[in-house]
Amino acid sequence: MKKLTIIGYPVSHSFSPVMHNFISQSIGAPYSYDITEVAPEKLGEAVEKLKAEGIAGFNVTAPHKIEIMKYLDGISKQAQRYGAVNTVVNKDGKLFGYNTDADGFYMSLMHKGINPVMAHILVLGAGGAAQPVVLNLAEKGAASLTVLNRTKEKAEALASYAAECTGFEVKTEMDREHYDIVINCTTLGMGKNKGMSPMYDLSVIDKNSAVVDMIYNPEKTVLLQEAEKLGARVANGLGMLVFQGILAYRLFTGIDIPDSMAEDVLKEVFGK
Ligand code: NAP
Repeated sequence: MKKLTIIGYPVSHSFSPVMHNFISQSIGAPYSYDITEVAPEKLGEAVEKLKAEGIAGFNVTAPHKIEIMKYLDGISKQAQRYGAVNTVVNKDGKLFGYNTDADGFYMSLMHKGINPVMAHILVLGAGGAAQPVVLNLAEKGAASLTVLNRTKEKAEALASYAAECTGFEVKTEMDREHYDIVINCTTLGMGKNKGMSPMYDLSVIDKNSAVVDMIYNPEKTVLLQEAEKLGARVANGLGMLVFQGILAYRLFTGIDIPDSMAEDVLKEVFGK
């Protein structure tokens, strides 16, 4: 049995083990996936230990997605550009980092029939999850991208970085009466911020909008509930979680599981 794991702090809440173990069992692949809680100050030590144990690969979640890059032997160009790694593969004793979050997010949009190509997109938040998604949507051909953030300097820094990497001009102020897609990349709506919404002015959302929340617990944030009342299509972050996992599984194992595996995971693991 080859070993896979996820490192994070805290990480006990992660759905990744149940999802990856389901995929391995359903295709009969010899992999088992568990959880490794790693405190920030122990990251280097933990990576050395996983390497020494011959781990086949591991996912990386908060707060290690940036810091992990120091400890790797190679990093894909895409992950370098996104500035974060969520998937590490052991190739003959050397560790290589990838980022499957943004492509997973894009696949989850397409799966829901939400096409970001030529769409006017409003992104709420400018943290670690927003950056890869904004760069990816710029590359995929959004018509316009606007990033709003509590700390405006961070939205401006993200806009400059996107311009440098992709040549796309990201705005930091709303300048439209309607947005085709609104994406919540803030933590407003979950954990201690449960019941809070990142948007107080919903006038830019209507029945022709799609509103996507990266949060999947709760299943329907206040933002999604309000958007639904306005007739918008809504989607939570479960699709992103599943599709980034499908892409990571392919990297870990070299097994080309089909995209349709996402349907099986959503149904059998999450009852959706
Ligand atoms: P992060 O780097 O900590 O960024 C947090 C963002 O939320 C920042 O833009 C921050 O604004 C904003 N924010 C936090 N508290 C706020 C408040 N009280 N009022 C207004 N804005 C506030 O976190 P992240 O890694 O980007 O994650 C963002 C969200 O995406 C989380 O909910 C996470 O669970 C989710 N996520 C989901 C998936 C998935 O697979 N579905 C994957 C990754 C992340 P400031 O810059 O002003 O602090």
